[in-house]
Parts: sequence; structure tokens; C-alpha cells
Amino acid sequence: MNYININNKFQIINFQDALICQNHDSGGLIMPQYIPEFGNSFIKKLNRKTNKEIATDLMYPYLNDLIDKRKLKNLISESLNFKIPLVQVEDNIFALELFHGPTMAFKDVGALFLSSLLQHLNPDMKKIRVVVATSGDTGSAVANSFANVPGFEVLILFPKGGVSLYQEQQLTNTASNVKAVEVDGTFDDCQLMLKNVLKNKDLCTELNITTANSINIGRLLPQIVYYFLAYKQLVNKKKDVVFSVPCGNFGNLTAGLMAMKMGLPVGKFIAAVNRNQSFYKLLKYGTYHPNETIKTFSNAMDVSNPSNIVRLLHLYENDILRLKEDIQCKTVNDDETISSIRAVYKKFDYLMDPHSAVAYHSLKSSIKKHQNGIFLATASPHKFESIVSKAIPSLIPKKIEYSNGYKIKSDTHVESLQSILYELALA
Ligand SMILES: *Cc1c(COP(=O)(O)O)cnc(C)c1O
Repeated sequence: MNYININNKFQIINFQDALICQNHDSGGLIMPQYIPEFGNSFIKKLNRKTNKEIATDLMYPYLNDLIDKRKLKNLISESLNFKIPLVQVEDNIFALELFHGPTMAFKDVGALFLSSLLQHLNPDMKKIRVVVATSGDTGSAVANSFANVPGFEVLILFPKGGVSLYQEQQLTNTASNVKAVEVDGTFDDCQLMLKNVLKNKDLCTELNITTANSINIGRLLPQIVYYFLAYKQLVNKKKDVVFSVPCGNFGNLTAGLMAMKMGLPVGKFIAAVNRNQSFYKLLKYGTYHPNETIKTFSNAMDVSNPSNIVRLLHLYENDILRLKEDIQCKTVNDDETISSIRAVYKKFDYLMDPHSAVAYHSLKSSIKKHQNGIFLATASPHKFESIVSKAIPSLIPKKIEYSNGYKIKSDTHVESLQSILYELALA
């Protein structure tokens, strides 16, 4: 499989280059040159295969340049080694629990897989520097998956006051090869800083810089797998399937759409968003104008200018009408988030984190009898106890101590970020 740069579709890139240097000419994102299709017989056989076999089959066409099938299977065994259960919450509503990995959010899936891939690509343990912008969970997942891995240094940019205490604890108290930098700004500011670093080709080449945000296609691809694992676990496969995905940077939804194009029978996707509504407005008015980022209870989704929108548009050849046939966008505010957490806990004894609650609420308000609704439970409720306890006061949040990392302002120029990078490089 070859890859292309969305901004310059004639630029063919191999997978290794796609993984290491993120921004190719004109700063475009990378996509596979085509989406491999798996026929009906593959879908019918899902129940007879192990999760690892399914993951290997699905990923192989994307990576066949780089790795043989046996090695890929080993790599998957090392990285996708936690359970992803489909839990029935109501009659026709199910939670796909993606938070049983080491940092209790779905970002573990992509981060662990990417880390294994990069280690495979780097047998001589040359220094590779991984820079990430995080709204909370990416940072901890990436920190965890690269902690103490020889050859890797990680720099994490996170927004001041934009992550929960628990997340901050996970970000700042890890290994010595991981540095967290608190940015006096929003996630979008952090992401912009990262993009500016990636645009600086000389710097990237000199310091061997890559990223582990979903800008990196290597993080996005493994997320395709769990949509198939969800379908495998459905007992009644006759009903239409609707996936409700809580969206921030839209990587998760992009992976779901790729799963559908690969042959997974999905009736519809719901893009569930909080009050950051750029995508909602894009579908409604056909225009895209990211506003200021708004802080909400679902902080990992506080993204105003989601990177992966360009990938979505690319998948649909910029045809918004066709996009709307497959995706419906729903917006959920903080009150609705809290009331969903409370109602589902009371009625069904199921505890949701605020992000999963946004997805649940969007699904609940539109599901029909003839459908099976699956919402992606993207983080453990225990990771967001301070929000969850607003809905259910009897849950008392744990007190967490946290340490400080570096602190910089959001208007920090690439140069000062550069000096932190150099400092890391020299350490
Ligand atoms: C990152 C994150 C999201 C948003 O996922 P995207 O792929 O960025 O759209 C949703 N929920 C949680 C808990 C997250 O950490």
C-alpha cells in the first residue's frame, strides 16, 4: 500500500515515510491511496476468528510494504492486548468499552500500536522525538506507550486548566524520557504549535521528529479494528447498526468511516459533539468557520478546528451531501451530559464518563426500534470522577497529587519550543 498527501494527491509516499515525517509538501495529511475492501464472506466469518486474527487481516493491506503477516500478528499481540467488550446498556443500546487499556481511554489503542510500529522501524534505536498536543488522553496514552522505551523521547503539549487532575497526574508523572509542557492556551493552540514544528522541515530532520497525534496515520489505522470487533460481538446482526462516536479531533470517526468503506455493514454514524460545533455547522450550512474553543465537561472533545475533517472530506471527495447520507451530527451541552450520566446510572446501573455520555445522549435521542445502537465509551468514568460526581454526588472523587512540568504561553514561538526540544535532545 502506498499513501498520498491529501493536499497533493500526486505525491506518493511509502508507509515508513508517512509514519516518520508527518507534514509533507504543503502540510497535507496522509491517507492510504485506496481503501481495501473485505467482502461479505469476511464479515460472515468474523465470529469464527480471534480478535488478533481479525486485526491482522484488517491491518495487513495497509502495512504490507513494511512488515510480513507473522510479524504483524506478533506486533498486534503486544499492543492490542486488552479487552474491548460490547456491553448491553438498554434493549437496543450497547456501549463499546474502549477504556480497558493502561491509561483508561481509547487513545491507548492507537498509541500502543504506533509505539510498537515505530520500535519495529527503529531496530538500531536511533533517537526519535515524538511531539504531541493533547486535550488530555492522547498525552497520557502516548507517555505510557513510550515510557522508558530506548531510542524515544516524548514532548507533550497540554492546555492549562483544560485537563482533569487525573489526566495531569498521568501526563506529568511518567518516565524520564517524557516531558510535559503546560501551555497557557487551548488545545487548538497546542495543536497549532505542533503543526508549526512539523512544518519546520530542517528541525524535524535534524531532531528526527514525528508526532503521535491522530495526524499520524499510524495511530488512526488500528482504530478501524474495534468497529469490526463491536460488530462481531452483536448477537442480533439483523438490525441496522448505528455507531455514535464522541468527536473531538474526529480521528475516531474517520477510522469508523474507513471501517464502513472496508465492508463493515453500518447503517449510519452519529458524530456526537459538545458545544464546539464547527463540524455541526459545516453539515448544516456547508461552511467551515472554527470559533474560539469552548471549555466543556467533555474536555477531550474541546476542539474547535479538528485536524481530521480534511480526511473525512477526502473520503467523500468533498461532497457534503454524500457525507450527510452517512453521518448525522448531534450537539450535546453540559447539562445534558450530566443528566445522561445520572439517568443511565439510576435506570440501568451503568456508569459513563462525560465523553461517553455525549455519545449516549446523541444516540438515545435518535435511535429507532429497528436499529442496534452502539456508542463508543471512550474513557473510564474513574478518569473523570470530578465530573461524574456532579451527576452522582455519592461518588467521592479521589484526591490526586500532581507535579508541575514546564509552563509556556500559547503565543510561544516555534523558536522557544525549539529550545525545549534542543534541551530534551541534549539531556
Ligand atoms: C480524544 C478523545 C475523544 C475524541 O476523539 P477524536 O478521535 O479526537 O475525535 C473522545 N473521548 C475521549 C475520552 C478522548 O480522549
